[in-house]
Amino acid sequence: MDVSTRDLTLVRYRRHLSGGRASLGEMFGGDVEVHASGAWVRTRTGRELLNCGGYGVFITGARHPRVLAEVHAQLDRNPVATRLLLEPQAGLAAEALTALSPPGLDRVHFACSGTEAVEAALKLARANGRRHVVGMVNGYHGKTLGALSVTGKPLFQRPFQPLLPDVSHVPFGDHVALADELTRHGHGTVCVVVEPVQGEAGVVVPPSGYLRRVAELCRRHGALLVLDEVQTGLGRLGTWWGADREGVVPDVLLVGKALGGGVVPVSALVATDEAFAPFDRDPFIHTSTFSGYPLGMAAVRGALAAIEEDDLVGRADRLGRLLFDELGRLLHDLFGDRVAALRGAGLLIGVELAVDGLAGELLLELMAAGVIANHSLNSDRVLRLTPPAVLDDREVQFLLDAFERAARALL
Ligand code: PLP
Repeated sequence: MDVSTRDLTLVRYRRHLSGGRASLGEMFGGDVEVHASGAWVRTRTGRELLNCGGYGVFITGARHPRVLAEVHAQLDRNPVATRLLLEPQAGLAAEALTALSPPGLDRVHFACSGTEAVEAALKLARANGRRHVVGMVNGYHGKTLGALSVTGKPLFQRPFQPLLPDVSHVPFGDHVALADELTRHGHGTVCVVVEPVQGEAGVVVPPSGYLRRVAELCRRHGALLVLDEVQTGLGRLGTWWGADREGVVPDVLLVGKALGGGVVPVSALVATDEAFAPFDRDPFIHTSTFSGYPLGMAAVRGALAAIEEDDLVGRADRLGRLLFDELGRLLHDLFGDRVAALRGAGLLIGVELAVDGLAGELLLELMAAGVIANHSLNSDRVLRLTPPAVLDDREVQFLLDAFERAARALL
């Protein structure tokens, strides 16, 4: 093992990045990732780990050939634009994204991270006269100040207060609570921000019909509906969008993570003509240097093509059902009532443990067994699996075997 390289990486993390982050890396064995391909990540010591983590970025797996081909070609042509001339890639990416989005969402603002897409939505809401924001308890929307104000987790908010005024939170999945909240504000003054399935909250799936009711309530109260699909979009739930689960068309849809094909960062706000009007009138009212950068736009086209051509949405659905059943059986047999719940849709799967600390231990044992999983930022007791939709039969079996080994190590 290349101990010196590992140690130097740790030293650099401690010296220049974050000591806490260095300690976390040490806790996970201190190994250093150096290569990724498909569902696998290779470390400097030569270990191959099945990547079922990555916080939902890798629906296409790492370095999907379709994405790489577009990105390589654009890298050699024009990776970053002047922003004064017109440039073809942004329009092409917007056309491809809107063609796959719910009907009527024809306008796009590109950014780089999920939290920036949320910021754009909050500003668009204000520019449309919606000055009060209603978010959901335990909802996660990122950590820039605006997005953090809507992220419903006091632990992350407290050190940075005061945050945005005029933000309230209601329980997720409770349409009556939302109705009550909306009646407290004037017609046409509210923006509702919601995830179709809460990811970082620990994969919380709302009751059937909830999203449709949210959309109806927003219509009735003239509220702008922002659906944050940064984690759930692009096939993660086994449908193109979480919105499709209930045939909902929001005013604004937010996309990120998988949008750059796991190769470069890209996010987007996709909106109706009406909601987008303030940005349409004034292209300088909300800008960012790298918005719509050609390299990212090429990645978007590659990612969307890969998801379509490889039927990754259908695969996510089928694989998700299989994994859900098999993991459910394993967990029931091995952990019994130490598992509080198994939840999920498609390839967003959450295992809620009934005991404090067990989710962390399982995460460590999974890593030891060769599988990378996620913790959940807004829920300590939930281990989250976000495998790529490119897993083949052998990789599925590897995951299940590793999961069994990891669980047995904790008996
Ligand atoms: N919105 C949702 C639903 C997310 O899950 C996340 C990240 O996990 C974000 C927004 C923020 O995205 P980013 O971390 O790219 O800023």
